[in-house]
Amino acid sequence: MKIVTILGARPQFIKAGSVSREIAKHDQIQEIIVHTGQHFDKNMSDIFFDEMKIPKPDYNLNISGLSHGAMTGQMIEKIEEVLIKEKPDFTLVYGDTNSTLAGALASSKLHIKIAHVEAGLRSFNMKMPEEINRILTDRVSTVLFCPTQSAIENLKNEGFENFDIKVVKNGDVMQDGANFYSNLAKKPKDLTLSGKYILCTIHRAENTDDKTRLTDIFKALNEIANDTQIILPLHPRTKKIIKNLNINTKNLTIIDPVGYLEMIYLIKNSNLVMTDSGGLQKEAFFFKKPCITLRDETEWVELVENNFNTLTGANREKIINSFKNHKFNQNFNLNLYGGGEASKVIVENLKAF
Ligand code: UDP
Repeated sequence: MKIVTILGARPQFIKAGSVSREIAKHDQIQEIIVHTGQHFDKNMSDIFFDEMKIPKPDYNLNISGLSHGAMTGQMIEKIEEVLIKEKPDFTLVYGDTNSTLAGALASSKLHIKIAHVEAGLRSFNMKMPEEINRILTDRVSTVLFCPTQSAIENLKNEGFENFDIKVVKNGDVMQDGANFYSNLAKKPKDLTLSGKYILCTIHRAENTDDKTRLTDIFKALNEIANDTQIILPLHPRTKKIIKNLNINTKNLTIIDPVGYLEMIYLIKNSNLVMTDSGGLQKEAFFFKKPCITLRDETEWVELVENNFNTLTGANREKIINSFKNHKFNQNFNLNLYGGGEASKVIVENLKAF
């Protein structure tokens, strides 16, 4: 059996790594990895792949820095060439990026079976390009691997039971990754930790590209930092926006983005996570940390329903109030994401096709 895996960003490589390690246990499956280049990342050197114990891509398409249409179009064209050459039994796509959608569209027109990992997730916000990518990818797939019960319910509500698409609840591949990398975590160099601290990340356009939201978030962070150290790994793009808006950050420990193993260290040793990232909300839970989510909605509703996570949007008062008064559920042993068997279930199901 031959599988072509389409990836386009560092987090996708990390998630897919768990499945690749599982595939490698099966002699009869060959995996070919295609990197579209969507998120150019200078940190994705050979060292990254070696350190993370994930296979290097077989193809690099180098498509990045274009508008959504141009990028997706070029990806479809180049992925189609790879698929025609490799003739896989399955194309494996992850998540909700333009690479995900391009891989699905190119495969569907060639009648190649498609497996979508992290299927069924919805934010119900059609302004998010990710939401469009998810919905369209789900609809043309052959098998949908859903991380949660709410993802299964979303598909039911959209009538997926009427389509010839297999829906599997397999758990979350990020849980597999968190289990695997937990012991490999390493402390970021040159960072002084004063004991108790909050780990914070802000990168979503809905926050960084909205002056009022960004200003309000930083007002809240500055106030909270009077009480507890806030460590904020910040992308250069966001750093630039903050500088241009003259936003005060003097109370905060701002550092450059860190490698994944360092990130795991920072999560594991924190007291609280504050973020607008999807992945980090779950990682907080995997490492038994409460989370304040600086968004108005989340795809990971079970974290909010079970009170491991609270949504504050960019509302200064709500953020501060949640920090001071919110009583989070401390029973982190609840199995919400499959307990680390997600990759195994994926491979078993693909083999059965
Ligand atoms: N991450 C990291 N270093 C950083 C910031 C984030 O390794 O400096 C990790 C983070 O732990 C998460 C992943 O990158 O697993 C994706 O996070 P991001 O916020 O970019 O994307 P999202 O989860 O919202 O898709």
